[in-house]
Amino acid sequence: MNTRNRPGQRISPLHTATRQPYGLGTPAGVLQARARQSVFSSHEFSLNSDVPPNPACSTDSGRPCHHPLTNESENRRLLAHEVKIKNSFDAIVQVLKRIASLQHEPDFEQRAQAIAREQLGFELPADILADAWVADLDMRALYGESVMRMLRLLAEQARHTNPQQDTDEAMAFFLDSGYHAVDISPCSDGRLKGLVRYILRLPDGAVRSRKAYAGAMFDVDANVKRWVETELMRFREGRPVTADAGTRYLKVAVYHWSSSNPTHEGCAAHGSNVTAAAEAGLKRLNEFRQAIENSFCCGASVDNLLIGVDTDTDAIKVHIPDADGAMSLYRFVDNIELYRATVNDDASSARLKLHRAILEASAITGWGAGNGEPHEGMRRLIASLLINNLSQIEYVCSNWGGRYADIGHAERFINVGEGFEEFQMRNLAYLAHLHTVEEGAPDMDVGIKIFTKLNVKHGLPIPIAIHYRYDSRVPGCRERSAERCQRIRAAIEGRYPDLAAKGLLACSMTVQDKRPGSPIELVEAITA
Ligand SMILES: [Zn+2]
Ligand SMILES: [Zn+2]
Repeated sequence: MNTRNRPGQRISPLHTATRQPYGLGTPAGVLQARARQSVFSSHEFSLNSDVPPNPACSTDSGRPCHHPLTNESENRRLLAHEVKIKNSFDAIVQVLKRIASLQHEPDFEQRAQAIAREQLGFELPADILADAWVADLDMRALYGESVMRMLRLLAEQARHTNPQQDTDEAMAFFLDSGYHAVDISPCSDGRLKGLVRYILRLPDGAVRSRKAYAGAMFDVDANVKRWVETELMRFREGRPVTADAGTRYLKVAVYHWSSSNPTHEGCAAHGSNVTAAAEAGLKRLNEFRQAIENSFCCGASVDNLLIGVDTDTDAIKVHIPDADGAMSLYRFVDNIELYRATVNDDASSARLKLHRAILEASAITGWGAGNGEPHEGMRRLIASLLINNLSQIEYVCSNWGGRYADIGHAERFINVGEGFEEFQMRNLAYLAHLHTVEEGAPDMDVGIKIFTKLNVKHGLPIPIAIHYRYDSRVPGCRERSAERCQRIRAAIEGRYPDLAAKGLLACSMTVQDKRPGSPIELVEAITA
């Protein structure tokens, strides 16, 4: 007897692990409800019990979804990674509570350090512990310092364990689709921090740049400069392919919205207006392309792609370019629709439907009408992105109970300056990309407002990680970056004097060489 297709046989362990067994003694009400518990507990802040279920599985009668094209082992690996990182940060409060209860006992310092080493993996600042006998333990300072030490510890671990071996393969894949460089500009919203590794499932090294901008409104001039650098490298060094290879440069802009609370939890930079967000991204892409075509002759051009992300479900919407590379807000493939339409198919018919969906979108008439289909490489690329994202839709579905409970903000720290490439994960950090505080003041104010609710309300300081990258090939660059950290820190403390005076701003300053895999360096060690 063939039992392989028996119902329930293909349910992954993730779906069943958290569910209580049903039996004769199970009350009927429980059986009816069939609540699927999520791996992640919902965060206290911005928890909304009225959140509708994930549209991908709302037709589902309590049966866990399983899409034939989902990469289950990758989903398990990413889940383990996310759980580890987030639990590490969330454990800090519990450990510090335990340590605080010991502060008047003999051998306090030794016992506190032993607990910290065992539970957190690092030692606490000795001077803060040593002062505990005279006044009470300074929990704010201890908390702020612990978050920063955890950050550096996890970054250090990530540097040693990050799998880079997929990079060549992904590079080969992009080249196969006709692209020698892929440059992605998402919005700087913390919910898009997992874009490359989680939502699009691309290996880091394969993407030339993924600098985030508020509202995905990337700096066209800076992008033209990066394009020039990329092309120059092809001419001078033949990397990754020579200039005559006929490959293209792909620029991707990523906007976002919230399907369950579209008017409040969408893109803050565009007043949660999804049309405005998409339009702005498309406009920048067109300007970028225009800039390249106007400035450089001989048919120099780039391919553009506009992608939207629903930050509740991580499902993407890909705007399909036409044969001329032009896009429309009204011509797209919505991956959540595709997920729903193919979840019960076998792998090959699901794949077939997916390719057909791209062609059907291209054939649309009316407002979204374009001039035919995109070239074959672009079609292949879009198909791969859609397939990759199916795994992420299921990831959110099965681990978060259909939809993220923290549809709003639940970041663990504010990241000022440049992002830590070691952490590419949703809602871990609020990124304020500042050159000077004056310039980035609105971004910073939003971050402080979010953390006033998240932390200050509970008496906890706001952890602020000021981080800049430098180029070790440029003399003095490291020292200048370190000084810049100090200037930014002073400016932040000057802008929020009340918080600073109460010890509610816990700033840490670090710099890091631009070369991939470089260690994070403490500014105190450089300027001392
Ligand atoms: Zn589902
Ligand atoms: Zn945004």
